[in-house]
Amino acid sequence: MDLEEDDLDALDAYQSIVDEVIAGRTEGHKCPSCLDDELECDFDGLRITLTCRKCGRFFEGVLG
Ligand SMILES: [Zn+2]
Repeated sequence: MDLEEDDLDALDAYQSIVDEVIAGRTEGHKCPSCLDDELECDFDGLRITLTCRKCGRFFEGVLG
């Protein structure tokens, strides 16, 4: 993966959201990119997707 520096900051932010989503809190997260609370979080037990309804930034993680 080729990430720019601001993406690395965002990655840290996404990681803490991922931890909360795994813990069952999927509502009310702020998008690390545009800082609006329009982040849609889904976790199906294996795959985590975070999608911003506002700016369209997308993050996907897989447990394993
Ligand atoms: Zn956003």
